[in-house]
This record gives sequence, structure tokens and C-alpha cells, in this order.
Amino acid sequence: EGRRLAKLANAPTRTRDGVDIGLLANAETPADVAMARARGADGVGLYRTEFLFLKHKGLPSEDEQFIAYRDLVMGMGGLPVTIRTLDLGADKADAAGLVVRGEDNPALGVRGVRLSLRYPAVFTTQIRAILRAACYGPMRVLVPMVTQPDELIAVRTLFKLARQDLKRENIDLPEKLPLGAMIEVPAAAINVRALLEHADFLAIGTNDLAQYVLAADRGNDALENIYNPLQPALLRLLSHVISAGRRAKKPVSLCGEIAGDVNFTALLLVLGLNEFSMHPAQILQVRDRLAALDYAHLRRHAAQLLRAHTREQAEALLNDIVGAPP
Ligand code: PEP
Ligand code: MG
Repeated sequence: EGRRLAKLANAPTRTRDGVDIGLLANAETPADVAMARARGADGVGLYRTEFLFLKHKGLPSEDEQFIAYRDLVMGMGGLPVTIRTLDLGADKADAAGLVVRGEDNPALGVRGVRLSLRYPAVFTTQIRAILRAACYGPMRVLVPMVTQPDELIAVRTLFKLARQDLKRENIDLPEKLPLGAMIEVPAAAINVRALLEHADFLAIGTNDLAQYVLAADRGNDALENIYNPLQPALLRLLSHVISAGRRAKKPVSLCGEIAGDVNFTALLLVLGLNEFSMHPAQILQVRDRLAALDYAHLRRHAAQLLRAHTREQAEALLNDIVGAPP
């Protein structure tokens, strides 16, 4: 079994009916990047920069960040890399030296882009490092915890200002650098059309989106019967976001844990996704699973699945759909 899977490292990712699917890696460390290459990832779909900020006390300098981002993009050898701007929660912000006074609900507090915009000088250091690294290979920038369009507009403005400064300093700049929004806050998902006016691409973060839609802590084992990807409310919201992205002709990927779980590969195809980002250790299994699935057949049953009233119904329907002859 291991040897059969290993052979898939150099194979294209394609469904049984010949639809190409993009498989990207979630990466934090050079080891993740090496594994992504070894498993034949199509790029890095999510690079969590928090890692750099939590590695040691204090904030990483512009050069330290630049080197990490440049090594990432060069390590991927010309494949696209998606760098996510700082996504520290209020609880973790203190560890990085960013002080947010004790919040009662850190998950609902100053985290992600909210924190970055509160510390524009810190954020600008990261933005400068990203812009400098983007000269070394194809890169996109992803903004976490976006709730409303003004956040994306503010991030774009900071990028524009950083470009002006770097230009004055005679530092090389990338021609273009796509800016995307994570969809992980329910308001962002519901009002996704407003965000699509300002985003070049979307990445759905189901870890947080499920947590916020279901009001169930993503790490709380006692809530396992609630926190489930097959919850009808979540399925309908995912479908809404994916359809809106398609209508706007902007790429939509999904980078939550379910992207790397073969139990949900068919579900993601039913919903119309064709780009997943996952822990690199999962890539071969997902590629193998995709080869056994029929994209057109699954898509035809999307409306039926979205009519499920309960998680159990959705699960039974999904099993029927996958098991039925194409
Ligand atoms: C998510 O929320 O689904 C996600 C990919 O981001 P993180 O797990 O880093 O919050
Ligand atoms: Mg998240």
C-alpha cells in the first residue's frame, strides 16, 4: 500500500472522469516544504506566518521574515506559494509581544487581520518582507479573519504605501501580487460578494468557519456531535461561497483540515471545489481517493445533498451519491 501510494508522487491529480484538481500544501517549516515537493504538491496553498512570530520572544525583523519567505518561495522551485499574513489570536499575541488587554473571548477578539491593522508598523514590516520575497517566485497573499471589505481595502493601502517606500529605496518589487481573503467568519461567507469586489481569490478556512457557524470551539472534544463538516448549515454556506467565487471568476480553494481527510474528498467535489490545500503528509492519499471519484456525477447531486436537514441525513445522502453508479 505504501509503495503504491509512493508512486503517486509524480502522478497528476485527476478524477476518474479526467478533471484536474489542484493539491497544495499547508506549510510552516522547511521540512513541510520539502515534504510538499516530495509528494508532488502543486504549490503551497497556506503558509502560516505565525510560526515565525512564536519561535522566539519578540518580533522577527524584516530581514528575518524576508529570508524565511524567500526560502519558502525558492524552495518550491517556481510553484505558486500563498503566504498568509499574521493570524495571531489575542491569546497568542502576547507571546509575540503584541499586547491586547485580557479579552473575555479571544476567539471573538482582536485576532488575524484585526490585530495586524491595530499594529500598522508591525504589519508593514511583514508586508515589506513579503514584497521583497515576491521577486523570487510566484506568490499570493492571503488575509486571515476578514469580516468586512474595509479590512481588505486597508490591507491593500498598506501594500501600496510599502511599495512606494521600497521603490524610493531602490529595492526590487514584484509586478503584481494577488491579494486574497480567508473565508472563515460567517459574515464574510454570507456577504462574500462584497469581498469578491476587493479580493483576487478566496481560501475557505473550514476549521474556523465551522467553529463560528456552529458556535462550537474547534478544539473542544465534548462538542464533536456538533462540530462536524456535514452540518447542513455549513454545507449550504460553503456552497454559497464556492458558487459566488465561480460567478465572479475568481479562484476558490479550501485549506481547513477536511481538505486532507479522504472521508470528505467526495463532499468537496460535490460542493464544486477543485483546489484543496492540506498537510503535505495527506497529499498522496487524497490524490489516490480523487482518482476513484467521478466529478461530473458528484456535481449532479449537489442540490440533493444541500437539501439535507440533519447531519445524519447529509452523511447518508453522501454515501448514496458516492456509491451510486455514475
Ligand atoms: C482554518 O481556519 O480553517 C484555517 C485553515 O486556518 P487555521 O487553522 O490556521 O486557523
Ligand atoms: Mg483559521
